[in-house]
Amino acid sequence: MIKRFSLTLLACCAILTAQTKVETILKSLEFNLTMTSDARAKVALTQQKAGEGVKAMEALWYRRDRDNAYMIVMLGHLSGNKLAVGADHLIYGWVFFGVVILLMFMIGARWAEHPNAGEPVHCTGIIAPEVFREFSIPADVALNELRRVRFHSPKGQIVRFQTEQAEAVIIDRRAFDANLKTLACASGARIHQGVKAANIEIRRDCAVVQCADGRKHKARACILATGSAYTLHRDLGMGFPPVYLNCAQVELPASCPGDVEIFLGREVAPKGFAWAAPVQRSEGSFARIGLMCEGDAATYFANFLPRLEKWGLPAFADVRPRQRMLPLAPIRKTYCDRLLIAGDAAGFVKPTTGGGVFYGMISASIAASVLAEALRRDRLSESELSSYQNRWQERLMEEIEAQLTLRLLMQRLTDDEVETIFDLWVTDGLMPLIRKSAAFNHHRKLIVAMIRYPAMRKILFRKALF
Ligand SMILES: Cc1cc2nc3c(=O)[nH]c(=O)nc-3n(C[C@H](O)[C@H](O)[C@H](O)COP(=O)(O)OP(=O)(O)OC[C@H]3O[C@@H](n4cnc5c(N)ncnc54)[C@H](O)[C@@H]3O)c2cc1C
Repeated sequence: MIKRFSLTLLACCAILTAQTKVETILKSLEFNLTMTSDARAKVALTQQKAGEGVKAMEALWYRRDRDNAYMIVMLGHLSGNKLAVGADHLIYGWVFFGVVILLMFMIGARWAEHPNAGEPVHCTGIIAPEVFREFSIPADVALNELRRVRFHSPKGQIVRFQTEQAEAVIIDRRAFDANLKTLACASGARIHQGVKAANIEIRRDCAVVQCADGRKHKARACILATGSAYTLHRDLGMGFPPVYLNCAQVELPASCPGDVEIFLGREVAPKGFAWAAPVQRSEGSFARIGLMCEGDAATYFANFLPRLEKWGLPAFADVRPRQRMLPLAPIRKTYCDRLLIAGDAAGFVKPTTGGGVFYGMISASIAASVLAEALRRDRLSESELSSYQNRWQERLMEEIEAQLTLRLLMQRLTDDEVETIFDLWVTDGLMPLIRKSAAFNHHRKLIVAMIRYPAMRKILFRKALF
Protein backbone atom coordinates (compact mmCIF):
# COMPACT_ATOMS: atom_id res chain seq x y z
CA MET A 1 0.00 0.00 0.00
CA ILE A 2 2.70 2.48 1.10
CA LYS A 3 4.90 1.32 -1.77
CA ARG A 4 2.10 1.91 -4.28
CA PHE A 5 1.39 5.32 -2.74
CA SER A 6 5.05 6.36 -2.90
CA LEU A 7 5.35 5.20 -6.52
CA THR A 8 2.21 7.15 -7.48
CA LEU A 9 3.55 10.18 -5.66
CA LEU A 10 6.85 9.81 -7.50
CA ALA A 11 5.12 9.55 -10.87
CA CYS A 12 3.00 12.68 -10.14
CA CYS A 13 6.09 14.61 -9.09
CA ALA A 14 7.96 13.52 -12.22
CA ILE A 15 5.06 14.68 -14.47
CA LEU A 16 4.63 17.99 -12.62
CA THR A 17 8.37 18.55 -12.65
CA ALA A 18 8.63 17.93 -16.39
CA GLN A 19 5.66 20.22 -17.12
CA THR A 20 6.96 22.94 -14.84
CA LYS A 21 10.42 22.67 -16.34
CA VAL A 22 9.12 23.19 -19.90
CA GLU A 23 6.99 26.16 -18.82
CA THR A 24 9.88 27.75 -16.96
CA ILE A 25 12.28 27.27 -19.87
CA LEU A 26 9.74 28.80 -22.27
CA LYS A 27 9.31 31.73 -19.91
CA SER A 28 13.06 32.25 -19.77
CA LEU A 29 13.36 32.09 -23.56
CA GLU A 30 10.48 34.54 -23.85
CA PHE A 31 12.32 36.95 -21.51
CA ASN A 32 15.52 36.60 -23.50
CA LEU A 33 13.84 37.08 -26.88
CA THR A 34 12.02 40.16 -25.67
CA MET A 35 15.14 41.64 -24.23
CA THR A 36 17.37 41.06 -27.23
CA SER A 37 14.87 42.13 -29.87
CA ASP A 38 13.58 45.31 -28.27
CA ALA A 39 15.61 47.58 -26.01
CA ARG A 40 12.54 49.39 -24.76
CA ALA A 41 10.82 46.25 -23.81
CA LYS A 42 14.01 45.31 -21.97
CA VAL A 43 13.93 48.55 -19.97
CA ALA A 44 10.21 48.05 -19.32
CA LEU A 45 10.78 44.53 -18.17
CA THR A 46 13.64 45.58 -15.94
CA GLN A 47 11.52 48.31 -14.43
CA GLN A 48 8.68 45.93 -13.97
CA LYS A 49 10.97 43.43 -12.29
CA ALA A 50 12.68 46.04 -10.15
CA GLY A 51 9.57 47.98 -9.19
CA GLU A 52 6.99 45.29 -9.25
CA GLY A 53 9.25 42.41 -8.55
CA VAL A 54 7.32 41.38 -5.53
CA LYS A 55 4.03 41.43 -7.46
CA ALA A 56 5.51 39.40 -10.28
CA MET A 57 6.94 37.06 -7.73
CA GLU A 58 3.57 36.71 -6.02
CA ALA A 59 1.85 35.95 -9.32
CA LEU A 60 4.31 33.22 -9.99
CA TRP A 61 4.33 31.97 -6.43
CA TYR A 62 0.77 30.71 -6.80
CA ARG A 63 1.54 28.81 -9.95
CA ARG A 64 2.49 25.13 -9.95
CA ASP A 65 6.15 25.96 -10.57
CA ARG A 66 6.22 28.19 -7.55
CA ASP A 67 9.42 26.95 -5.90
CA ASN A 68 11.60 27.16 -8.95
CA ALA A 69 9.94 30.33 -10.29
CA TYR A 70 10.12 32.00 -6.89
CA MET A 71 13.84 31.41 -6.63
CA ILE A 72 14.47 32.43 -10.24
CA VAL A 73 12.47 35.67 -9.92
CA MET A 74 14.20 36.43 -6.64
CA LEU A 75 17.60 35.84 -8.23
CA GLY A 76 16.64 38.16 -11.11
CA HIS A 77 15.20 40.74 -8.75
CA LEU A 78 18.09 40.80 -6.31
CA SER A 79 20.79 40.81 -9.02
CA GLY A 80 19.19 43.61 -11.07
CA ASN A 81 18.38 41.10 -13.81
CA LYS A 82 22.00 39.99 -14.21
CA LEU A 83 21.31 36.49 -13.00
CA ALA A 84 18.66 33.87 -13.74
CA VAL A 85 17.60 35.24 -17.09
CA GLY A 86 19.65 33.12 -19.49
CA ALA A 87 21.85 30.04 -19.46
CA ASP A 88 22.30 30.38 -15.69
CA HIS A 89 18.51 30.10 -15.39
CA LEU A 90 18.65 26.75 -17.17
CA ILE A 91 21.61 25.57 -15.12
CA TYR A 92 19.92 26.59 -11.88
CA GLY A 93 16.66 24.94 -13.00
CA TRP A 94 18.31 21.66 -13.94
CA VAL A 95 20.38 21.50 -10.77
CA PHE A 96 17.35 22.36 -8.62
CA PHE A 97 15.09 19.79 -10.23
CA GLY A 98 17.88 17.23 -10.48
CA VAL A 99 18.23 17.43 -6.69
CA VAL A 100 14.44 17.29 -6.16
CA ILE A 101 14.05 14.22 -8.39
CA LEU A 102 17.04 12.50 -6.78
CA LEU A 103 15.55 13.10 -3.34
CA MET A 104 12.19 11.70 -4.46
CA PHE A 105 13.85 8.56 -5.79
CA MET A 106 15.88 8.17 -2.60
CA ILE A 107 12.71 8.44 -0.53
CA GLY A 108 10.92 5.91 -2.79
CA ALA A 109 13.89 3.49 -2.60
CA ARG A 110 13.45 3.20 1.16
CA TRP A 111 10.38 1.01 0.61
CA ALA A 112 11.57 -1.07 -2.33
CA GLU A 113 13.59 -4.29 -2.47
CA HIS A 114 14.65 -6.25 -5.53
CA PRO A 115 11.71 -8.18 -6.99
CA ASN A 116 13.59 -11.44 -7.73
CA ALA A 117 16.16 -13.56 -5.91
CA GLY A 118 19.69 -13.03 -7.20
CA GLU A 119 18.88 -9.80 -9.04
CA PRO A 120 20.52 -7.54 -9.84
CA VAL A 121 23.80 -9.47 -10.00
CA HIS A 122 26.70 -7.76 -8.25
CA CYS A 123 29.01 -10.76 -7.92
CA THR A 124 31.63 -12.24 -10.28
CA GLY A 125 30.52 -15.71 -9.23
CA ILE A 126 33.88 -17.49 -9.18
CA ILE A 127 33.69 -20.44 -6.81
CA ALA A 128 35.54 -23.70 -6.24
CA PRO A 129 34.04 -27.04 -7.33
CA GLU A 130 34.00 -28.09 -3.65
CA VAL A 131 31.05 -25.68 -3.08
CA PHE A 132 29.00 -27.80 -5.50
CA ARG A 133 29.95 -30.99 -3.67
CA GLU A 134 29.43 -29.71 -0.12
CA PHE A 135 26.09 -28.01 -0.75
CA SER A 136 24.61 -30.21 -3.51
CA ILE A 137 24.39 -27.36 -6.02
CA PRO A 138 23.21 -28.55 -9.46
CA ALA A 139 26.05 -28.53 -11.99
CA ASP A 140 24.04 -26.59 -14.57
CA VAL A 141 24.49 -23.25 -12.76
CA ALA A 142 28.20 -23.46 -13.72
CA LEU A 143 29.02 -21.61 -16.93
CA ASN A 144 32.68 -22.40 -17.55
CA GLU A 145 35.84 -23.60 -15.85
CA LEU A 146 38.78 -21.32 -15.09
CA ARG A 147 42.28 -22.80 -15.22
CA ARG A 148 44.59 -19.97 -16.25
CA VAL A 149 45.30 -16.64 -14.55
CA ARG A 150 47.56 -13.75 -15.56
CA PHE A 151 48.71 -11.49 -12.73
CA HIS A 152 49.78 -7.94 -13.73
CA SER A 153 52.20 -6.07 -11.46
CA PRO A 154 51.92 -2.28 -10.99
CA LYS A 155 54.74 -1.77 -13.53
CA GLY A 156 53.38 -4.24 -16.07
CA GLN A 157 55.22 -7.50 -15.30
CA ILE A 158 53.00 -10.46 -16.07
CA VAL A 159 53.05 -13.74 -14.18
CA ARG A 160 51.04 -16.66 -15.55
CA PHE A 161 49.56 -19.33 -13.34
CA GLN A 162 47.86 -22.47 -14.55
CA THR A 163 46.30 -25.43 -12.77
CA GLU A 164 45.93 -29.00 -14.01
CA GLN A 165 42.47 -29.44 -12.54
CA ALA A 166 39.80 -26.74 -12.65
CA GLU A 167 40.34 -25.00 -9.30
CA ALA A 168 37.50 -22.60 -10.01
CA VAL A 169 34.34 -22.28 -12.07
CA ILE A 170 32.30 -19.25 -12.96
CA ILE A 171 28.60 -19.55 -12.18
CA ASP A 172 25.39 -17.95 -13.36
CA ARG A 173 24.74 -16.15 -10.08
CA ARG A 174 21.12 -15.43 -10.95
CA ALA A 175 20.45 -19.14 -11.60
CA PHE A 176 22.45 -20.08 -8.49
CA ASP A 177 20.28 -17.86 -6.23
CA ALA A 178 17.08 -18.98 -7.97
CA ASN A 179 18.09 -22.57 -7.29
CA LEU A 180 18.62 -21.84 -3.58
CA LYS A 181 15.19 -20.22 -3.51
CA THR A 182 13.60 -23.32 -5.09
CA LEU A 183 15.32 -25.54 -2.51
CA ALA A 184 14.11 -23.28 0.33
CA CYS A 185 10.52 -23.31 -0.98
CA ALA A 186 10.64 -27.10 -1.37
CA SER A 187 11.59 -27.26 2.33
CA GLY A 188 8.55 -25.19 3.31
CA ALA A 189 9.89 -21.62 3.20
CA ARG A 190 7.45 -18.86 2.22
CA ILE A 191 9.22 -16.02 0.44
CA HIS A 192 8.04 -12.40 0.32
CA GLN A 193 9.86 -10.59 -2.48
CA GLY A 194 10.17 -6.93 -3.37
CA VAL A 195 9.73 -5.51 0.11
CA LYS A 196 12.33 -4.28 2.55
CA ALA A 197 12.62 -5.30 6.19
CA ALA A 198 12.65 -1.90 7.87
CA ASN A 199 13.02 -2.86 11.48
CA ILE A 200 13.57 -5.90 13.70
CA GLU A 201 12.30 -5.88 17.22
CA ILE A 202 13.45 -8.60 19.59
CA ARG A 203 10.78 -9.17 22.21
CA ARG A 204 10.83 -11.49 25.22
CA ASP A 205 8.81 -14.18 23.41
CA CYS A 206 9.35 -13.47 19.69
CA ALA A 207 11.15 -11.50 16.97
CA VAL A 208 9.03 -9.06 14.96
CA VAL A 209 10.14 -8.01 11.48
CA GLN A 210 8.43 -4.80 10.46
CA CYS A 211 8.35 -4.44 6.66
CA ALA A 212 8.43 -1.18 4.79
CA ASP A 213 4.97 -1.86 3.34
CA GLY A 214 3.57 -1.84 6.86
CA ARG A 215 3.22 -5.60 7.30
CA LYS A 216 4.67 -7.25 10.39
CA HIS A 217 6.00 -10.80 10.54
CA LYS A 218 6.21 -12.41 13.92
CA ALA A 219 8.58 -15.36 14.42
CA ARG A 220 10.16 -17.30 17.22
CA ALA A 221 13.60 -16.43 15.81
CA CYS A 222 15.23 -14.62 12.93
CA ILE A 223 18.36 -14.94 10.72
CA LEU A 224 19.72 -11.63 9.46
CA ALA A 225 21.16 -12.20 5.94
CA THR A 226 20.92 -8.79 4.30
CA GLY A 227 24.28 -8.95 2.50
CA SER A 228 26.38 -5.82 2.86
CA ALA A 229 23.46 -3.66 4.06
CA TYR A 230 23.98 -2.82 7.71
CA THR A 231 21.12 -0.48 8.70
CA LEU A 232 19.32 -3.17 10.70
CA HIS A 233 22.60 -4.04 12.49
CA ARG A 234 22.91 -0.46 13.66
CA ASP A 235 19.38 -0.47 15.06
CA LEU A 236 20.02 -3.80 16.82
CA GLY A 237 23.43 -2.66 18.12
CA MET A 238 25.20 -5.51 16.27
CA GLY A 239 28.22 -3.66 14.84
CA PHE A 240 29.82 -3.25 11.44
CA PRO A 241 32.63 -5.17 9.62
CA PRO A 242 35.92 -3.61 10.74
CA VAL A 243 37.61 -4.03 7.32
CA TYR A 244 35.94 -3.39 3.98
CA LEU A 245 36.57 -2.08 0.46
CA ASN A 246 34.38 -0.60 -2.27
CA CYS A 247 33.54 -2.58 -5.40
CA ALA A 248 32.33 -1.95 -8.91
CA GLN A 249 31.45 -4.76 -11.30
CA VAL A 250 29.72 -5.42 -14.61
CA GLU A 251 29.24 -8.16 -17.20
CA LEU A 252 29.83 -7.08 -20.79
CA PRO A 253 29.84 -8.82 -24.16
CA ALA A 254 33.44 -9.59 -25.15
CA SER A 255 34.28 -10.62 -28.70
CA CYS A 256 37.74 -11.81 -27.69
CA PRO A 257 37.83 -12.86 -24.01
CA GLY A 258 41.19 -13.85 -22.54
CA ASP A 259 42.27 -15.77 -19.43
CA VAL A 260 41.38 -14.48 -15.99
CA GLU A 261 43.42 -11.31 -15.49
CA ILE A 262 44.28 -9.71 -12.16
CA PHE A 263 45.81 -6.25 -11.94
CA LEU A 264 47.54 -4.86 -8.87
CA GLY A 265 48.81 -1.40 -8.05
CA ARG A 266 47.78 1.83 -6.34
CA GLU A 267 46.86 3.40 -9.66
CA VAL A 268 44.51 0.56 -10.59
CA ALA A 269 42.88 -0.30 -7.26
CA PRO A 270 44.43 1.01 -4.03
CA LYS A 271 44.46 -1.68 -1.27
CA GLY A 272 42.68 -4.12 -3.60
CA PHE A 273 42.89 -5.37 -7.16
CA ALA A 274 41.02 -5.32 -10.45
CA TRP A 275 39.95 -8.35 -12.47
CA ALA A 276 38.43 -9.64 -15.67
CA ALA A 277 37.08 -13.17 -16.08
CA PRO A 278 35.79 -14.87 -19.22
CA VAL A 279 32.16 -16.03 -19.25
CA GLN A 280 30.75 -18.43 -21.84
CA ARG A 281 26.99 -18.47 -22.29
CA SER A 282 24.87 -20.04 -25.01
CA GLU A 283 24.29 -16.48 -26.34
CA GLY A 284 28.02 -15.84 -26.74
CA SER A 285 31.18 -14.69 -24.94
CA PHE A 286 31.17 -12.19 -22.11
CA ALA A 287 33.55 -10.75 -19.53
CA ARG A 288 32.89 -10.05 -15.86
CA ILE A 289 34.98 -7.06 -14.99
CA GLY A 290 35.36 -5.57 -11.57
CA LEU A 291 37.56 -4.13 -8.90
CA MET A 292 37.76 -3.73 -5.15
CA CYS A 293 39.53 -0.68 -3.79
CA GLU A 294 39.69 2.06 -1.25
CA GLY A 295 38.03 5.24 -2.52
CA ASP A 296 35.73 5.84 -5.46
CA ALA A 297 35.31 2.44 -7.15
CA ALA A 298 33.40 3.88 -10.15
CA THR A 299 36.27 6.23 -11.06
CA TYR A 300 38.91 3.51 -10.72
CA PHE A 301 36.65 1.21 -12.75
CA ALA A 302 36.34 3.74 -15.60
CA ASN A 303 40.13 4.20 -15.62
CA PHE A 304 40.68 0.44 -15.59
CA LEU A 305 38.51 -0.51 -18.59
CA PRO A 306 40.94 0.67 -21.31
CA ARG A 307 43.48 -1.89 -20.02
CA LEU A 308 41.16 -4.59 -21.38
CA GLU A 309 41.17 -3.31 -24.93
CA LYS A 310 42.18 -6.73 -26.27
CA TRP A 311 38.97 -8.31 -24.92
CA GLY A 312 36.82 -6.64 -27.58
CA LEU A 313 34.44 -4.85 -25.23
CA PRO A 314 31.69 -2.40 -26.31
CA ALA A 315 32.15 1.39 -26.03
CA PHE A 316 33.50 2.16 -22.56
CA ALA A 317 31.50 5.36 -22.22
CA ASP A 318 28.20 3.47 -21.89
CA VAL A 319 29.35 1.16 -19.11
CA ARG A 320 27.64 1.57 -15.73
CA PRO A 321 29.05 -0.88 -13.15
CA ARG A 322 27.08 -1.97 -10.09
CA GLN A 323 28.71 -0.62 -6.96
CA ARG A 324 28.75 -2.24 -3.56
CA MET A 325 30.60 -2.37 -0.33
CA LEU A 326 32.51 -5.61 0.29
CA PRO A 327 33.08 -6.62 3.94
CA LEU A 328 36.46 -8.28 4.53
CA ALA A 329 36.29 -9.25 8.19
CA PRO A 330 33.57 -10.62 10.47
CA ILE A 331 31.58 -8.49 12.86
CA ARG A 332 32.45 -9.03 16.53
CA LYS A 333 29.23 -10.76 17.59
CA THR A 334 26.94 -12.72 15.28
CA TYR A 335 24.10 -13.66 17.67
CA CYS A 336 21.78 -12.22 20.28
CA ASP A 337 18.42 -13.26 21.76
CA ARG A 338 16.35 -14.93 19.00
CA LEU A 339 18.68 -13.74 16.21
CA LEU A 340 21.67 -15.03 14.19
CA ILE A 341 23.61 -13.21 11.47
CA ALA A 342 24.94 -15.02 8.36
CA GLY A 343 26.75 -14.35 5.07
CA ASP A 344 28.00 -10.87 4.15
CA ALA A 345 25.74 -9.47 6.86
CA ALA A 346 28.17 -11.06 9.35
CA GLY A 347 31.24 -10.17 7.23
CA PHE A 348 31.90 -13.79 6.19
CA VAL A 349 34.07 -13.17 3.15
CA LYS A 350 37.58 -14.39 2.39
CA PRO A 351 39.69 -11.41 3.49
CA THR A 352 42.30 -12.05 0.78
CA THR A 353 40.14 -12.22 -2.35
CA GLY A 354 36.72 -11.01 -1.23
CA GLY A 355 35.05 -14.29 -2.28
CA GLY A 356 32.05 -14.76 0.00
CA VAL A 357 29.80 -17.43 -1.50
CA PHE A 358 31.59 -20.36 0.19
CA TYR A 359 31.78 -18.78 3.67
CA GLY A 360 28.23 -17.49 3.29
CA MET A 361 26.94 -20.99 2.58
CA ILE A 362 28.93 -22.45 5.49
CA SER A 363 27.60 -19.83 7.90
CA ALA A 364 24.02 -20.31 6.64
CA SER A 365 24.17 -24.06 7.12
CA ILE A 366 25.63 -23.72 10.65
CA ALA A 367 23.00 -21.08 11.50
CA ALA A 368 20.21 -23.35 10.24
CA SER A 369 21.43 -26.33 12.26
CA VAL A 370 21.95 -24.30 15.48
CA LEU A 371 18.54 -22.65 15.13
CA ALA A 372 16.73 -25.91 14.32
CA GLU A 373 18.07 -27.44 17.54
CA ALA A 374 17.31 -24.29 19.61
CA LEU A 375 13.75 -24.16 18.25
CA ARG A 376 13.21 -27.81 19.02
CA ARG A 377 14.28 -27.23 22.62
CA ASP A 378 12.61 -23.82 22.71
CA ARG A 379 15.80 -22.26 24.06
CA LEU A 380 16.45 -19.14 22.03
CA SER A 381 18.31 -16.90 24.45
CA GLU A 382 21.62 -15.23 23.59
CA SER A 383 23.60 -17.70 25.70
CA GLU A 384 21.95 -20.69 23.98
CA LEU A 385 22.59 -19.25 20.51
CA SER A 386 26.24 -18.45 21.25
CA SER A 387 27.06 -21.97 20.01
CA TYR A 388 26.57 -20.54 16.48
CA GLN A 389 29.62 -18.30 16.92
CA ASN A 390 31.63 -21.17 18.44
CA ARG A 391 30.81 -23.41 15.51
CA TRP A 392 31.61 -20.98 12.69
CA GLN A 393 34.80 -19.96 14.49
CA GLU A 394 35.82 -23.60 14.74
CA ARG A 395 35.32 -24.05 11.01
CA LEU A 396 36.57 -20.71 9.66
CA MET A 397 38.49 -18.67 12.21
CA GLU A 398 42.02 -19.99 11.57
CA GLU A 399 41.58 -19.28 7.87
CA ILE A 400 40.06 -15.85 8.45
CA GLU A 401 42.82 -14.82 10.87
CA ALA A 402 45.64 -15.89 8.53
CA GLN A 403 43.99 -14.21 5.53
CA LEU A 404 43.25 -11.05 7.46
CA THR A 405 46.87 -10.80 8.63
CA LEU A 406 48.06 -11.08 5.03
CA ARG A 407 45.45 -8.58 3.80
CA LEU A 408 46.38 -5.95 6.38
CA LEU A 409 50.08 -6.33 5.54
CA MET A 410 49.53 -6.36 1.77
CA GLN A 411 47.33 -3.24 2.00
CA ARG A 412 50.36 -1.37 3.33
CA LEU A 413 52.77 -2.43 0.57
CA THR A 414 54.02 0.22 -1.82
CA ASP A 415 53.91 -0.48 -5.55
CA ASP A 416 57.71 -1.04 -5.47
CA GLU A 417 57.33 -3.69 -2.78
CA VAL A 418 54.59 -5.42 -4.80
CA GLU A 419 56.96 -5.30 -7.77
CA THR A 420 59.65 -7.01 -5.66
CA ILE A 421 57.19 -9.78 -4.80
CA PHE A 422 56.55 -10.26 -8.52
CA ASP A 423 60.33 -10.50 -9.04
CA LEU A 424 60.50 -13.21 -6.36
CA TRP A 425 57.59 -14.96 -8.00
CA VAL A 426 59.35 -15.13 -11.35
CA THR A 427 62.98 -15.58 -10.39
CA ASP A 428 63.36 -16.74 -6.83
CA GLY A 429 61.48 -19.98 -6.56
CA LEU A 430 58.28 -18.61 -5.04
CA MET A 431 56.27 -20.22 -7.84
CA PRO A 432 56.88 -23.87 -6.76
CA LEU A 433 55.76 -22.92 -3.27
CA ILE A 434 52.57 -21.41 -4.66
CA ARG A 435 51.94 -24.44 -6.83
CA LYS A 436 52.36 -26.72 -3.84
CA SER A 437 50.29 -24.79 -1.30
CA ALA A 438 47.67 -22.75 -3.18
CA ALA A 439 44.02 -23.81 -2.96
CA PHE A 440 41.09 -21.68 -4.09
CA ASN A 441 39.18 -21.73 -0.81
CA HIS A 442 41.97 -22.40 1.69
CA HIS A 443 44.75 -19.82 1.81
CA ARG A 444 46.27 -20.39 5.25
CA LYS A 445 48.72 -23.04 4.11
CA LEU A 446 50.08 -20.77 1.40
CA ILE A 447 50.21 -17.76 3.73
CA VAL A 448 52.20 -19.72 6.33
CA ALA A 449 54.56 -21.01 3.60
CA MET A 450 55.04 -17.48 2.28
CA ILE A 451 55.80 -16.09 5.71
CA ARG A 452 58.40 -18.85 6.20
CA TYR A 453 60.02 -18.04 2.87
CA PRO A 454 62.97 -15.76 3.83
CA ALA A 455 62.74 -13.13 1.07
CA MET A 456 59.00 -12.81 1.47
CA ARG A 457 59.22 -12.77 5.27
CA LYS A 458 61.64 -9.86 5.08
CA ILE A 459 59.16 -7.73 3.10
CA LEU A 460 56.13 -8.64 5.20
CA PHE A 461 57.86 -8.26 8.58
CA ARG A 462 59.16 -4.86 7.59
CA LYS A 463 55.52 -3.89 6.93
CA ALA A 464 54.42 -5.33 10.26
CA LEU A 465 57.01 -3.22 12.09
CA PHE A 466 56.75 0.08 10.21
C1 LIG B 1 31.95 -7.03 -7.04
C2 LIG B 1 31.83 -8.29 -6.23
C3 LIG B 1 32.32 -9.48 -6.76
C4 LIG B 1 32.25 -10.65 -6.02
N1 LIG B 1 32.74 -11.79 -6.58
C5 LIG B 1 32.67 -12.94 -5.88
C6 LIG B 1 33.17 -14.15 -6.43
O1 LIG B 1 33.65 -14.19 -7.56
N2 LIG B 1 33.10 -15.28 -5.68
C7 LIG B 1 32.56 -15.28 -4.42
O2 LIG B 1 32.55 -16.33 -3.76
N3 LIG B 1 32.08 -14.13 -3.88
C8 LIG B 1 32.11 -12.97 -4.57
N4 LIG B 1 31.62 -11.82 -4.02
C9 LIG B 1 31.03 -11.86 -2.68
C10 LIG B 1 29.63 -12.47 -2.76
O3 LIG B 1 28.89 -11.80 -3.76
C11 LIG B 1 28.93 -12.32 -1.43
O4 LIG B 1 29.79 -12.76 -0.41
C12 LIG B 1 27.65 -13.13 -1.39
O5 LIG B 1 26.77 -12.69 -2.38
C13 LIG B 1 27.01 -12.98 -0.02
O6 LIG B 1 25.75 -13.58 -0.03
P1 LIG B 1 24.65 -13.05 0.99
O7 LIG B 1 23.46 -13.92 0.79
O8 LIG B 1 25.23 -12.93 2.35
O9 LIG B 1 24.33 -11.55 0.52
P2 LIG B 1 23.68 -11.07 -0.84
O10 LIG B 1 23.97 -11.99 -1.93
O11 LIG B 1 24.08 -9.64 -0.96
O12 LIG B 1 22.10 -11.15 -0.54
C14 LIG B 1 21.49 -10.32 0.43
C15 LIG B 1 20.05 -10.10 0.00
O13 LIG B 1 19.36 -9.42 1.03
C16 LIG B 1 18.59 -8.38 0.46
N5 LIG B 1 18.39 -7.34 1.48
C17 LIG B 1 19.29 -6.46 1.97
N6 LIG B 1 18.71 -5.68 2.90
C18 LIG B 1 17.43 -6.09 3.00
C19 LIG B 1 16.32 -5.66 3.79
N7 LIG B 1 16.44 -4.67 4.68
N8 LIG B 1 15.14 -6.29 3.64
C20 LIG B 1 14.99 -7.31 2.75
N9 LIG B 1 16.01 -7.77 1.97
C21 LIG B 1 17.21 -7.15 2.11
C22 LIG B 1 19.42 -7.91 -0.72
O14 LIG B 1 18.64 -7.23 -1.67
C23 LIG B 1 19.94 -9.23 -1.26
O15 LIG B 1 19.01 -9.81 -2.13
C24 LIG B 1 31.67 -10.64 -4.74
C25 LIG B 1 31.17 -9.45 -4.20
C26 LIG B 1 31.24 -8.29 -4.95
C27 LIG B 1 30.69 -7.00 -4.36
